[in-house]
Amino acid sequence: MEWPSGARSASCLTFDLDADEVWLAEESSAARRPGLLSQGVYGPRVAVPLVLDVLRRYGVPATFFVPGRVAERYPHAVRQVLDAGHEVAHHGYTHRSPAGLTVHEEEEELVRGLEALRATHGVTARGYRAPSWDVSPRTVELLHRHGLVYASNLMADIVPYRHPGTEVVELPVHWTLDDAAHFWFAQTSWSRKIATNEEAGAIWQAEAAGIDRLGGLCVHTFHPQIIGRPGRLELLELIVRTVAENDAVWSATAGEIADWARGPE
Ligand code: ZN
Repeated sequence: MEWPSGARSASCLTFDLDADEVWLAEESSAARRPGLLSQGVYGPRVAVPLVLDVLRRYGVPATFFVPGRVAERYPHAVRQVLDAGHEVAHHGYTHRSPAGLTVHEEEEELVRGLEALRATHGVTARGYRAPSWDVSPRTVELLHRHGLVYASNLMADIVPYRHPGTEVVELPVHWTLDDAAHFWFAQTSWSRKIATNEEAGAIWQAEAAGIDRLGGLCVHTFHPQIIGRPGRLELLELIVRTVAENDAVWSATAGEIADWARGPE
């Protein structure tokens, strides 16, 4: 695929600002467990400014996917993201996976999420990432119908592609480039070990370098509550610096990359 200004490949840094909504959706007893929820509260409360500071120092743009309820409950954090010049896009209203919803519920989540971003921050979301990337067979058609022009959920490619019969451009993701796959931990997952920065960093750098060699799009998926832990900020900085210092890589927001991939109207 051809990239702007002769770039060899493209890079998109994305942050899913789940806050405690991800825990409320994952665990039915979460509403009664402030300890569990507090892991997510750390995201908007502490991690967002720390993450924004790293991005600012290297001048790298990013896209933050925000559930509507997070925009309503933590407006200050979303305002900080917008004031720093980054893109805010749709990440559900709650953090429930579309794959587990009825047709009616899925559309309601989509509409309420759009309305919440508009009402709280005047944002018209152009793109959508499903909670947990867990789309339903109806998701693309719903996005098309509600005017969203890109999605970032599927793993079928390493370059953007358009969903047939729609305006929706897919920006492909993968678990290897997701911080949750390496660092997710909760009271409910004691069988897992928390990875070291060296393990996750080696996996991310290998995948990013491979995508760069192949001329693809590298979509990193981070979560402020995970990558924004004090001991991981240096790892985030390593990834951001690698992107910023590679002149052959076009670094842009998800919306900008989708517009480029769609081509002239
Ligand atoms: Zn999420």
